[in-house]
Amino acid sequence: MKVTVFGVGYVGLVQASVLADVGHEVCCVDVDQDKVDRLNQGLIPIYEPGLEPMVRHNHDAGRLTFTTDAAAGVHHGKVQFIAVGTPPDEDGSADLQYVLAVADTIARHMDSPKVVVDKSTVPVGTADKVRQRIASVLKERGADVAFQVVSNPEFLKEGAAVADCMRPDRIVIGSDDEVAIEVMRELYEPFNRQQERTVIMDVRSAELTKYAANCMLATKISFMNEMANLAEKLGADIEAVRRGIGSDPRIGYHFIYPGCGYGGSCFPKDVQALIRAADGIGHDAKILKAVEQVNDDQKTVLMRNIRRHFGDDLKGRTIALWGLAFKPNTDDMREAPSRVLLAALWEAGARVQAYDPEAMEETQRIFGHRDNLVLMGTKEAALKGADALVICTEWQAFRAPDFDFIQQELRQPVIFDGRNLYDPERLAKRGFHYYGIGRGLSI
Ligand code: NAD
Repeated sequence: MKVTVFGVGYVGLVQASVLADVGHEVCCVDVDQDKVDRLNQGLIPIYEPGLEPMVRHNHDAGRLTFTTDAAAGVHHGKVQFIAVGTPPDEDGSADLQYVLAVADTIARHMDSPKVVVDKSTVPVGTADKVRQRIASVLKERGADVAFQVVSNPEFLKEGAAVADCMRPDRIVIGSDDEVAIEVMRELYEPFNRQQERTVIMDVRSAELTKYAANCMLATKISFMNEMANLAEKLGADIEAVRRGIGSDPRIGYHFIYPGCGYGGSCFPKDVQALIRAADGIGHDAKILKAVEQVNDDQKTVLMRNIRRHFGDDLKGRTIALWGLAFKPNTDDMREAPSRVLLAALWEAGARVQAYDPEAMEETQRIFGHRDNLVLMGTKEAALKGADALVICTEWQAFRAPDFDFIQQELRQPVIFDGRNLYDPERLAKRGFHYYGIGRGLSI
């Protein structure tokens, strides 16, 4: 099937590659000329395990193309995916300008029937807006071309995006049009061979399903962080509590890891957007507001512990920071807890020696060159002469470090662990001051 994908970000690029990999002919359109040029040279702008070979392979085979020529993109695909960003507006609601700009583009150039698919995360009612937008541009053009608008939210996880798209838990399709549903079924047929994963529903329910999923996951994290803060004060160990509750299948082990807050391009923005959407219809989304508040507060927990140990003035102190990305296996720094920590450390006068396996380039792009941030080539190098080690991201390579070496390199044996990677008692025996999250046993 011929498919066009507008937006080659994390979602668009991964989805396009996976669709091309099963044989569809996919044309990707983006407004970012530099990104398109790099992709045409086989250079992948983001880090995602397994993505680079898949893009190269399908690009070389001619099934995956990249262009800034929107008209050519519209002519190419029977299915037109909208996978552009929906960043927060000034008040936190989803900014639909990019989605609607693509709708305009499709309407301006279409001359054969299209199925327009909202892949971006968009508030309930957006498919109606996209439909109206396309209809009004077609009317202006005096063109009579059939089209349907479908909601098909994306549930991939950054860091495992390729695997998630190859073997999705579910494929949600929101439409009440039999023709559009049939086209979508055919498109996703290769991903349904083992078992039927498609869930068909009305458009508004599909739009809300995406927000409900992300808000539920964010709620689990904030709930657990609240428990961690209680455990800290009550002298309990949240890690024991986590194992104790996770064993109940009604609760499960997923997404109940306490830490220094959730980040990324989705949870913070989607929780906020649903709160604003609820406000807009006079509904006070009490749980979601608390989820957001707990998370904002949790992003300051590492700094609070650092102040507890060193006092407020960190002038002359050097902090070794392991992990900058908002989670492992990505270079994405959007809303990362590390950014809140860096700002607070700099404000208090500290200098940071940081290392991340994938997010160094992105960190450099965001912060540029500055005296109080040195990006180090290895996690070991980041330790040299630092007053303490702080962990923000649970990269696999940080899980079993050489503690003798850490002790030898740090000026003081202090670890602030934002992801509870280590055993507090074992570290205490080795002579470390160890601050975890909600472990009650800190120091
Ligand atoms: P992104 O910012 O990585 O990529 C968006 C791309 O769209 C950019 O390359 C940008 O240049 C391009 N673009 C903007 N306007 C355009 C236009 N008019 N025509 C063509 N291209 C245009 O965004 P992302 O992380 O891929 O997210 C896209 C959407 O998917 C968002 O709504 C997001 O909430 C949702 N989503 C993201 C994830 C995730 O993990 N990143 C997961 C599920 C859903």
